[in-house]
Amino acid sequence: MKKIFIAVGLLLLVAIISISFGYSGNLFSGALRNIFQPQKNPVFIKNEIQNITPVYKISSSFFTGDQRVQDVLNGKSYDMDSMQYAIGIPGKTLNKKEFGYKIMSALKMLGYNTSQGNLVSGGKPHILVINQFQKRNGLTVFNFVDASFIEHLDGQVGLKEKEEMKYKDLFPLYNTIQRDENDVSKEHIAKIYSMVYQVLPKALALSTAESYKACFLIQCGIDFYNKAANTFTNLKIFDVSAFLMNDTVELKDYVHEYGHYIDGLLFSKDSAYPKRGMIDTRGFYSISFNDDGNVHLKPNPDNGVPNCFQKKTGDPYEFITDYAASPSAFDTCPQGWNRYAEDFAESFSSYILQGENFRDAAKVNGKIKGKYDWLKNNVFEGIEYNTDLMAASASGCNDIPLLSGNKPGYLKCQEDYVWDGEIKKLVFRYVFFIPQIL
Ligand SMILES: [Zn+2]
Repeated sequence: MKKIFIAVGLLLLVAIISISFGYSGNLFSGALRNIFQPQKNPVFIKNEIQNITPVYKISSSFFTGDQRVQDVLNGKSYDMDSMQYAIGIPGKTLNKKEFGYKIMSALKMLGYNTSQGNLVSGGKPHILVINQFQKRNGLTVFNFVDASFIEHLDGQVGLKEKEEMKYKDLFPLYNTIQRDENDVSKEHIAKIYSMVYQVLPKALALSTAESYKACFLIQCGIDFYNKAANTFTNLKIFDVSAFLMNDTVELKDYVHEYGHYIDGLLFSKDSAYPKRGMIDTRGFYSISFNDDGNVHLKPNPDNGVPNCFQKKTGDPYEFITDYAASPSAFDTCPQGWNRYAEDFAESFSSYILQGENFRDAAKVNGKIKGKYDWLKNNVFEGIEYNTDLMAASASGCNDIPLLSGNKPGYLKCQEDYVWDGEIKKLVFRYVFFIPQIL
């Protein structure tokens, strides 16, 4: 009993001492420490805390060491509209030196559509895209990049960098990539040019450095690969100097070109070019074209190459995209003939990147269904994809007001699309019902 009184007494003593020093934290660590350490004037402590500016620590490699980022963090906001960056405005071109370009590169890495506004915004994708980021992150929506914008952007880019680290090893030409200081990261470039092969059937996928080079040299990105220097100097296959192409369209173009590369009607097989011409596409083309030997192949008046094929149909809804139907705007073949290879390349790339849209189209058009099933069985070994990536206007999308009259409208050009950076396979989940015993 005596011991209990002593213990309670001690506790009370400690509590009284703690209260007298204004302490309100953990009784047994802080309070006792306070007893033995000289106390500062509480008013002074308060001032000291107020004078501390919280320092945000940059987490991404992408923004580390950039003085302009520090300037913004120190309160000097950057006016995004000051950069020379616009689409379709005479005299304005893409200036890669601008800090705004670096912001755009960061947003591209996060899956934002950096070429949005191509059609409807009056040429200011840089404003549309930062406003979209601000809204999604609960930030002030204006034309400026301020400290909290940088903090959110940097945090997300840092996480993305961790995810994309693996592409350093997955793209065998990683060491040859060259980039300007404000461009997307090397890992991100490596990802765009190697990720599709991680989800294709193995027999169809590029893997070695030699196989990549062979493809880049003749079809998969002639402008991208500098043969003499053995380096990759451009970020895009089709270098468009007026704007930074978003990932989904860049990827679509690349996969489209790979579709051409494996097309056996366009290319012959050759061991120096692994995978080239490996798919016998006659069966595919017979769905929309007359095919009885080469009788129905005609030289293209434009270049003399026999890439015009006689069409069975003038119906644009038989083709997954407008470009696949190869209408006169894109084609120099005679009336009723098509640059046939676009049908396969567009269908191949849509099968992987817009699987959902392709399957929806197959529900309303038998010929589209025929093409989907042919690809599934003859190219993809039954693998399907759970994808709906944003497409470009050449797809014939009609979900944008200015394009509402376009055909066939199977793919979407939703300009505010944010890609999660994945090409997901379609996985069927079987649900087992376990009968309950009541
Ligand atoms: Zn093509």
